[in-house]
Amino acid sequence: MSYTLTEFLAHAVAMEQEAADRYLELADMMEAHRNDAVAELFRQMNRFSIMHRDSILEHAKPHALPRLNAWEYRWRSPPEVGGEEGFDYLLEPYNALRYARQNEVRAMKYYRSVAAEAQDEELRRMAGEFAAEEREHAQSLDEWIARTPRPSMTWDEDPESHEPID
Ligand code: ZN
Repeated sequence: MSYTLTEFLAHAVAMEQEAADRYLELADMMEAHRNDAVAELFRQMNRFSIMHRDSILEHAKPHALPRLNAWEYRWRSPPEVGGEEGFDYLLEPYNALRYARQNEVRAMKYYRSVAAEAQDEELRRMAGEFAAEEREHAQSLDEWIARTPRPSMTWDEDPESHEPID
């Protein structure tokens, strides 16, 4: 599927806004459970997402952006997460980090596919840059995951949560 520049910008804004919202939620959850280090990481990711959203909005100024469907940009929960249980599940820093990582990888793949199929030079360049940025986010989450204790309950059944980033 090939996107126009405005469709792409609308997606990118929505994805960054979604990431900002989810990271803020995750940060509050970690903080409530006294995991200040992971809370701080999520706050930082929240700030990056807001900065990125604002710079995309700057680019998007001359364009009227199309409206999107929520499923096109909302973060996906791990498969066994639903309702109250899901909330408990994500209180584990390890699971919260994996959840964030999965959605960063999803964003990276979206940007890569746009870059690969772009007809327009500016679109290809921007999508390529954004993909590289998401890859860095996934990588820093990987570093945190590597030094975070693994809880007994994880979503290892889901192949997407282990997806390599290269
Ligand atoms: Zn990101």
